[in-house]
Amino acid sequence: MKEFFISTEKEFDDFNSKNLNIIDFPFNDILNSKGELVEKGLACSVSKNLKMNDDCFKTLLALSEFKKIIPFTCSSFYRSEKHPLHDEKHPSQHFFTRAMDCRPAIKTMPFYIQFAKYAYEFYEKQDVKAFGGIGVYSTHVHLDTYKERTTPYWLGVINEIVKGGLVYRYIYFKNFNKMIESLEIMIKEGDWQ
Ligand SMILES: [Zn+2]
Repeated sequence: MKEFFISTEKEFDDFNSKNLNIIDFPFNDILNSKGELVEKGLACSVSKNLKMNDDCFKTLLALSEFKKIIPFTCSSFYRSEKHPLHDEKHPSQHFFTRAMDCRPAIKTMPFYIQFAKYAYEFYEKQDVKAFGGIGVYSTHVHLDTYKERTTPYWLGVINEIVKGGLVYRYIYFKNFNKMIESLEIMIKEGDWQ
């Protein structure tokens, strides 16, 4: 698939009904009647478009399948070069349209851990091998389909809260169960935030 941009809800609906026809994520942000954010859409919140390519297609298919197993909402998907979190030297998987920050329905750490375990099981299935990276944060779980890694699992610990948002410190792991073990110890000892 040649890379192209989708800029409107209608374009996305047309593309979805022709090519994917299973996507259960909003294209634009959904606000409630008070104007508060209910769910983030797939489009970049700054450039208001979505970069569609093979990676994006594959990622959306995998995430739609995963959503049937365990419900969640999206809290970030595509980030264009205009997005404040975009780092030109080290672009994140969100820039390549192959990552989603997922907010599980129950917002407790035991449930986030369960969510990450389900994602790992989903990834490990021989016929799926969907996700490449799994990152656990206190606010969301990051899932991406990028496979070229030596340390595919990580914990994002809040280091400081600045005006523009949260600054994380990352701890990387080669082994998924080691990551979960470390996270459980950090929670127990009060080092997790
Ligand atoms: Zn992310």
